[in-house]
Amino acid sequence: MSRVVSIGNVNIGGNNKVAIQSMATFKIADTVRAAEECKRLKENGLDIMRFSVTDEKDAAAFATVKKLSGVPLVADIHFDYKLAQKSIDGGADKIRINPGNIGGEDKVKQVALALKSANIPVRVGSNTGSIDKDFLFKYGKNEVSLGESALKNVAILEKYGVDNIVVSVKASDVNLAVKAYEYVAKRCDYPLHLGVTEAGTEYHGVIKNSIGIGSLLMRGIGDTIRVSLSADPIREVVAARAILSALDLVNDCVKIIACPTCGRCEWDCMAFAKKVEEYTLNVKKPLKIAVMGCAVNGPGEAADADLGVAGAKDECVIFVRGKIVKKVAKEKIEQEFFKEIDRCTQ
Ligand code: SF4
Repeated sequence: MSRVVSIGNVNIGGNNKVAIQSMATFKIADTVRAAEECKRLKENGLDIMRFSVTDEKDAAAFATVKKLSGVPLVADIHFDYKLAQKSIDGGADKIRINPGNIGGEDKVKQVALALKSANIPVRVGSNTGSIDKDFLFKYGKNEVSLGESALKNVAILEKYGVDNIVVSVKASDVNLAVKAYEYVAKRCDYPLHLGVTEAGTEYHGVIKNSIGIGSLLMRGIGDTIRVSLSADPIREVVAARAILSALDLVNDCVKIIACPTCGRCEWDCMAFAKKVEEYTLNVKKPLKIAVMGCAVNGPGEAADADLGVAGAKDECVIFVRGKIVKKVAKEKIEQEFFKEIDRCTQ
């Protein structure tokens, strides 16, 4: 089991729930917009938010955004150790650096001292673009060079007394990412930040992340996740929740079951399933809802749903755990079914 690390008021590692992260697509120096973005994503399940730091204004903005949003914040820094120090002073709850590009051991040491004095964690690791040259030469581009590069960065920080560490090994290739995380999980007990990097647009990105993150979580590997997508960050958070929900790692969100429909379907089941999904997106209750194509087989096929709806020729039926409890005219089903959902979730 991994050791516990605290990012603001969110604990990861050990037996803590897998925390959901995302990253802003704009600068934190725009503090009002940044706080609104954190709140918007938090409503959908976000636990921790990351912002890139490119100048001193960014570094100074963390305390303000944290106060306005109540969300723990991570500062993402490349190249400039002074920005790392300033972000720590500026109120970041965690920083992410690559010791290899921060400008030499002396500068890494300065960052390590600042981390220890603020008592906040740091994420280090590697990705396929930052594999240590010696390891790349020795092993080629694979899980060993990726994993060893991450562990080397961990060792640099440990040398200066930092042990409040989260590790990541990112690759865009799902097989490589999974193998690299397995490699690192066998060799250290720091919490792991999972993700398949540069995963692509929403459709392909969700598939790649679900396979990569999901297969690792199923084996007990991983403590915090970011579903990286070329899409609105809210889609990352929604996808992350769906992955955790599919693996029963969260019990505070609605699961939607919907049939693929067939020749027996006599209503617009697919459109209704989409409406139910949107209606329940922010609901934080463990509820299984079924939207089925026909009343002949639907209630039986979805008998384990807490609440369900199925279409028939002129009317729809609402069922609870497979038992029909109400028949409703098709034109009134949205209103009636949403009322039932409200009743179950209040
Ligand atoms: Fe077909 Fe009815 Fe089964 Fe849906 S529930 S797949 S419509 S038989």
